Amino acid sequence: QKAEWAKLVNEESFTADNHHVELAANIGTPQDLEGVINNGGEGVGLYRTEFLYMGRDQLPTEEEQFESYKAVLEGMKGKPVVVRTLDIGGDKELPYLNLPKEMNPFLGFRAIRLCLEEQGMFRTQLRALLRASTFGNLKIMFPMIATIDEFRQAKATLEEEKQKLLQEGVAVSDDIEIGIMVEIPSTAVIADLFAKEVDFFSIGTNDLIQYTMAADRMNERVSYLYQPYNPAILRLVKMVIDAAHKEGKWAGMCGEMAGDETAIPLLIGLGLDEFSMSATSILKARSQIRQLNKADMEKLAAEVLQMRTTEEVIQAVQAATQM
Ligand code: PEP
Ligand code: MG
Repeated sequence: QKAEWAKLVNEESFTADNHHVELAANIGTPQDLEGVINNGGEGVGLYRTEFLYMGRDQLPTEEEQFESYKAVLEGMKGKPVVVRTLDIGGDKELPYLNLPKEMNPFLGFRAIRLCLEEQGMFRTQLRALLRASTFGNLKIMFPMIATIDEFRQAKATLEEEKQKLLQEGVAVSDDIEIGIMVEIPSTAVIADLFAKEVDFFSIGTNDLIQYTMAADRMNERVSYLYQPYNPAILRLVKMVIDAAHKEGKWAGMCGEMAGDETAIPLLIGLGLDEFSMSATSILKARSQIRQLNKADMEKLAAEVLQMRTTEEVIQAVQAATQM
């Protein structure tokens, strides 16, 4: 099987009925690029920049960040690279920021909430990204967006830094797509409104599932409620994809669900455009997608959206795909 998958390294990802999707990789550092290339990644769908900030005792400088972003953009040779701005908090701590302990860190002062307040830290990252933008195909993504206002503020800050750089005579790409993670239910619910303002969505199911089901993604006691195939989750995913398409935008997914073999047929059926997963899952997913018929998966997805339980959904997928 592995040998069969290896033959697909230089192939693009098409369904049996010739529908194209992009299979991209999640990375944490420039060192992960080798794995992306060896596994035939068509892009980077999520560069988790928090690793640049972790395991040290002070913030990374603009220069250090610039070097990392540039290395990834150059390494991907013009293929899309979605860089997510700092998503610290929740399960990812930065001791040197000395943030007060919170009762509910996953519902607390994290990610974009922190960045919009710690302007200096945020602007340093944005400048590094903008300066790196001419070295490849950069797309910038904001994490944990809960309101349209947060997106507008983040985008305005980015625009300000861009204008400053241009005034300083620094080259900045003029076609950087700006998107958001959809990982908070409020954002999924008004995805139609967000879609008028963003260039793309990437659905972060790791968090979207925990917030929708009110089940901590790290808590074993409630792991039975952490249900990727729950029709509630699938309906939210559909809303986000449909909203994007209605405005001519693309929708990806960068949570674990994007690389899950039971979810993939449904996501193909729902029309997901980009799947971002750990590099080692890409070839297996590509091989699976080549066997699927988009038209059949659309029917399957429509049926599944009317089901009531996770078990029914899993059975329907297995029956339809002979898994
Ligand atoms: C997600 O929430 O699905 C996601 C990809 O982000 P992270 O796992 O880094 O929170
Ligand atoms: Mg997340």
